[in-house]
Amino acid sequence: MAYYNNRREEPLPNEDINTWECVSENCNGWMRKDFSTSEAPACPFCGSQMESGTRHTHFLKNNNLHKE
Ligand SMILES: [Zn+2]
Repeated sequence: MAYYNNRREEPLPNEDINTWECVSENCNGWMRKDFSTSEAPACPFCGSQMESGTRHTHFLKNNNLHKE
């Protein structure tokens, strides 16, 4: 019986990315800093301020705006 101790099973590559996080408690909007041209962007969903943050998430998302 063939057996491989292979730990490289990563169907979705995750990585830490720099983000802007919406400060509103009623909104979970965030965006990748890589795609932001502003130093201090407003939330595209509610217009609130955004603060610097990080997320460990999929790298392969094309859309740079998120609401979850
Ligand atoms: Zn927001």
